[in-house]
Amino acid sequence: MDKPFAITLDVGSSLANRTGSWRTNRPLYVDRLPPCNNACPAGENIQSWLYHAESSDYEAAWRVLTQDNPLPAVMGRVCYHPCENECNRARLDTPVGINSVERFLGDEAIRRGWRFPAPARESGKRVLIVGAGPSGLSAAYHLRRLGHRVAIHEAGTFAGGMMRFGIPKYRLPRDVLDAEVRRILDMGVELVLDTKVDSILSTMRMGEFDAAFLAVGAHIRIDIFSGKFAPRTRALIDLGAYAVMLPLLVWLSYALFQHLAIGYLRSERSGQSAMNLPVWPFRIVFLVAFTLLAFQVLAEVLKTVRALRTGSR
Ligand code: SF4
Repeated sequence: MDKPFAITLDVGSSLANRTGSWRTNRPLYVDRLPPCNNACPAGENIQSWLYHAESSDYEAAWRVLTQDNPLPAVMGRVCYHPCENECNRARLDTPVGINSVERFLGDEAIRRGWRFPAPARESGKRVLIVGAGPSGLSAAYHLRRLGHRVAIHEAGTFAGGMMRFGIPKYRLPRDVLDAEVRRILDMGVELVLDTKVDSILSTMRMGEFDAAFLAVGAHIRIDIFSGKFAPRTRALIDLGAYAVMLPLLVWLSYALFQHLAIGYLRSERSGQSAMNLPVWPFRIVFLVAFTLLAFQVLAEVLKTVRALRTGSR
C-alpha cells in the first residue's frame, strides 16, 4: 500500500496504530465569489451589503450596493433576481430575499434623501453619453464618480429609456424612477433632452468631448437583411413582401373583426347586437384603425419605391 509522505505506519485506524489522531489530507482554502454575486448581472457585492443590512446599518448597505449599481429602487422592482436562483440556501429551504432587501434599501434612500458624494477630484476630461436609458445613466454615474465631466444627450423628452417606456407604471412607479435619475444628475451630470446626435464626431468636436459612450438602447430596428443584398434588390424583396402581406392582413383583420365583434354582438333576427348595442360604432373603430394601418403601410411602400429609384435606403 502507498503510504503518505514520511509515514511508516499504515494509514487507517489510529487506534490500531496507537499513534493518536493524525491526518493525511489538508483542506485547501480558496477565495471565490459567492454564487449570488456571480449571478448578478449588475455585479453587485451582495454578501457585503447584506452584511450591513443585517446589522441594521441601512445607509452603509446602500452605499456598498450603489458602488456597483446606482438604481437599487428600480432594480429592486424589476430585476428577475438570478442571484436568488443561485443562492445556496435554496437547497436547504428558501433563498435569501436579496431582491426585496435591495428594493427596501432603494426606497429607504429615497425616503431619507441619501445622496451620492461628489467626486474626490476632477479629472478635467469630458465625456459625451448618447442615450439616457439605464446604460447611459449608469455610465454617467460611474464616470462622474471617477471625476469626469459628463453630458448625456437624449433624443427623447424624458430620461429613463426602457425603464420608462418599456416597464409599466404599476411595476415601476415613475416617482421612484425620477428620484433615482435625479440623484445621478445631482452629482453634476448634464442632461440634454430632445437632442438627437446625428454625428458623433461633430458633436464631440463642438462640445470638446474627450470620449463618447453610445448607450442608444436595444429598441432599434434590426435589419436582418443588412448588407446581404444590393439596395435595389432589397427594395424589390420588400415590395414583394408587401404585395403578399397587405391582402392577407386586410382579410385577417376583417375576419377577426367579424368573428369577434359583429358575430358576437349581432342577433340574427333583429339586426341589433345581443347586448342591445348598435353595430355601427364597431365598424367605425375598425375603419379608423384600418385606415391608420393602411397609412403606415403606404408610407413604408413609398419609402421602398423611393429606395428602388435612388438605389439607397
Ligand atoms: S435582484 Fe439585485 S442583486 Fe439580485 S441579480 Fe438583480 S440586481 Fe443583482
